[in-house]
Amino acid sequence: MKRLEDIVSLCKRRGFIFQGSEVYGGMAGTWDYGPLGDILKRKLMNEWWNYFVEKRDDIYGIDSAILMNPKTWEASGHTTTFSDPLVECKECKSRFRADKIADGISESVTTEEFLKTHTKCPVCGKENWGPIRKFNMMFSTRVGAVLPDDDAEMTKNTTTYLRPETAQGIFSNYKNIIDTIYPDIPFGIAQQGKAFRNEISPRDFILRDRECTQMEIEYFIKPETWEEEFEKIRLLQHDFLENIIKLNPEDITEYEVPENDRAHYSKRTIDFMFNYPNGEEELMGLAYRTDFDLRNIEKASGKSMEYRDKKTGDNFVPHIIEPSIGVERLFLAVLSTAYTEDEINGEKRIVLKLPENLAPYRFCVSPLLKNKPELVEKAKEVYEKLREKYVNVTWDDSGNIGKRYRKQDEIGTFECVVIDFDTLEDNTVTIRNRDTTKQTRVKIEEL
Ligand SMILES: [Zn+2]
Repeated sequence: MKRLEDIVSLCKRRGFIFQGSEVYGGMAGTWDYGPLGDILKRKLMNEWWNYFVEKRDDIYGIDSAILMNPKTWEASGHTTTFSDPLVECKECKSRFRADKIADGISESVTTEEFLKTHTKCPVCGKENWGPIRKFNMMFSTRVGAVLPDDDAEMTKNTTTYLRPETAQGIFSNYKNIIDTIYPDIPFGIAQQGKAFRNEISPRDFILRDRECTQMEIEYFIKPETWEEEFEKIRLLQHDFLENIIKLNPEDITEYEVPENDRAHYSKRTIDFMFNYPNGEEELMGLAYRTDFDLRNIEKASGKSMEYRDKKTGDNFVPHIIEPSIGVERLFLAVLSTAYTEDEINGEKRIVLKLPENLAPYRFCVSPLLKNKPELVEKAKEVYEKLREKYVNVTWDDSGNIGKRYRKQDEIGTFECVVIDFDTLEDNTVTIRNRDTTKQTRVKIEEL
């Protein structure tokens, strides 16, 4: 049985993930990626980019600004509807997201509906609630030379937000892309980047944090082809998650979001759920958004968002299919899958069985003994050679060989290479496999 707290503990102990601002007592909902977490995160992002952008002819990458003209968030509806139901306990003043502390209610819960659930305050245990208030989750900030005591109009005119999603940076560049790249339809625009949400109660480690990294594609299609294009993109998500990232297919289930829970403009939405140690949670979303986003931009900007079909000469506003995934959610899915406790020759160990393409290090090189200069010198030579070829190679000469193996197992190093006295004689080394712990002897030039 895998437990989230064991994974959190491994992440901290081995330098994958630390609490944000830990030295100052931490900051809720923020996390810092250490040396190993950074390598794994980059690998996940690179695999996604490689699969969806670089290996395809029809998807283009962009990197848009985090700060955007506030009209963006008016047009998209975020300033009025991007909110959670906030409820305050009148006894102890604690604030909660109503739909997270009561069963059977949705995000659009009313005060009356909430009171009927007779929920007790999770902090003080009393039942004395204020009204449900809408809490907007966007982080606001002010742009330019403004002062705290500037008047209301000045404040309003200089307020913008840290983007709550990368998608709007894509929609707002759609016109730039069609005017410069002239893509054939269907085509996609992809972006990876930070997004910010002021969660009322961040929880579940990196699953619900206030700052996350999104990977999104907006795929522009002819309206009448939406069903077949949706199906193609749905299958691509499975192929990526199961064959590139190597998640177990049985841990992934599709939840077909029913009409009354979908955004009003979406004709179909599927949540890809993952079986995390703490239970099933959303891993990614796939939504058919119709022409909602481009029509909103047309209304707010007064500019036409029509696409001109090169073959037929028809003008139309494309419809959009959006696959969206958070890197942190993928990160935790990968770690949950890889985390294993097993027993080798009666000795318990923790091992991260990461696939070869995601292991932070492909090899760890070490001399059998640290105090024998001839072994250290030979080992350094092998280390340099492997690093040139594989890049992700680490060096370890600490402690005894057993301790090194345990450490490398915990960080998921795929294979350990050990240089001993035989190496000096016949140029062979011991290779020890992480998952089987089997050791074999191979020639250096065959590595
Ligand atoms: Zn209370």
